[in-house]
Amino acid sequence: MTDTTLMSIPGQVDPVPVARDITPREDGRMDLMGLARPRIFELFSEAGLDDRQAKLRSKQVFHWLYHRGVTDFDAMTDISKAMRPWLAERFVIGRPNVVEAQHSSDGTRKWLLQTDDGHDFEMVFIPDADRGTLCVSSQVGCTLNCTFCHTGTMRLVRNLTPGEIVGQVMLARDALGEWPKGKMDFAFEDDETDESAAHYTADGRLLTNIVMMGMGEPLYNFDHVRDALNLVMDGDGLALSKRRITLSTSGVVPMMERCGQEIGVNLAVSLHAVTKPVRDEIVPLNKKYGIEELLQACADYPKASNARRITFEYVMLKDKNDSDEDAHELVRLLKHYDLPAKVNLIPFNPWPGAEYECSTPERIRSFSNIVFEGGISAPVRTPRGRDIDAACGQLKTAAQKKSRAERDREAAAAAS
Ligand code: SAH
Ligand code: SF4
Repeated sequence: MTDTTLMSIPGQVDPVPVARDITPREDGRMDLMGLARPRIFELFSEAGLDDRQAKLRSKQVFHWLYHRGVTDFDAMTDISKAMRPWLAERFVIGRPNVVEAQHSSDGTRKWLLQTDDGHDFEMVFIPDADRGTLCVSSQVGCTLNCTFCHTGTMRLVRNLTPGEIVGQVMLARDALGEWPKGKMDFAFEDDETDESAAHYTADGRLLTNIVMMGMGEPLYNFDHVRDALNLVMDGDGLALSKRRITLSTSGVVPMMERCGQEIGVNLAVSLHAVTKPVRDEIVPLNKKYGIEELLQACADYPKASNARRITFEYVMLKDKNDSDEDAHELVRLLKHYDLPAKVNLIPFNPWPGAEYECSTPERIRSFSNIVFEGGISAPVRTPRGRDIDAACGQLKTAAQKKSRAERDREAAAAAS
């Protein structure tokens, strides 16, 4: 198996990014971050352990890695002292590199992160009274160019690996100091159950929910997002319930069924418009998968029910999609497809050069009232972290935000 595979991401512009299974390191060691138990077992076998040892060690390492957040083999106290250097010579447990961490006045935190090959991406933590939500990126940039979204203007796109995706959650737990502590009290040798998780799941955690709403279109990086979320949901991994995870898609219809079946998390759909001309304009993917097709796929979503409703995201753009007629049409459509739905109205978050303005508060209220009167919940999402460009659609890495002049100056300085 080679470490580097080339693939292309579909979109309006088809780039050829590099998607790596395992980050190749200069020192030849393998990064275990993002790998599932069977793969860790395979690597341990290939490195020379017999089957019994490989099985035991992969199970132990998996637990330390994802459940306890340990990055140093020396801290794995149930692994013999002689074995630990053997592991450390061959493997590492990595994290995304932190370039910058910012704090908003409203408590929101944003991290600018970097992959080992130098691509910047971002994650955001949004604390609330009763929950804490981590907004995770699935790609560097996005191929889909929604006209109101800053991320869509990034030219460079690369799929994040499972390690880079799950690594964001690990890093957030590091930063929040939320790894379970205490003695491990179950025996690996004869343990075939995975009920250990409960012992270490501390109550009152800050990080309670995950939304795949950072940079990128998660369903265009399906395999990696699935593998990462399965580690997040694994009872002996990060052990987060699928009910606390939401994946947001701009409407990649052909992948929605698999998303329900193979990941099973809550679904959010970026609808944003109720007529073809407007959605074609603001979410150009609509030209490929139209509104009817999208809503039918929502109606067929395997995990949807009244207890687990689908969230329809609707960005409020002044004079574009925010009329009373639009609100009535939204109610009609959601009822026509008999969808267990809630609507999330998102005030448009501005960014430099954006062509749109946010609807007025009165307009948003009127729109919301109409949808509520239609029997569908339609709360307005409070923008968070606007002062540090952490709000929805503002994510675009600082490096790419620099002005032309700044970049020219830097290039000149580097050359001299
Ligand atoms: N690509 C996925 C997930 C990431 S975007 C998707 O499009 O669903 C997360 C949410 O932020 C989406 O609903 C997106 O439409 C919305 N969004 C993007 N730009 C925005 C902006 N400038 N203001 C408000 N919401 C925005
Ligand atoms: Fe991509 Fe989502 Fe932004 Fe559209 S809204 S450009 S799909 S990240």
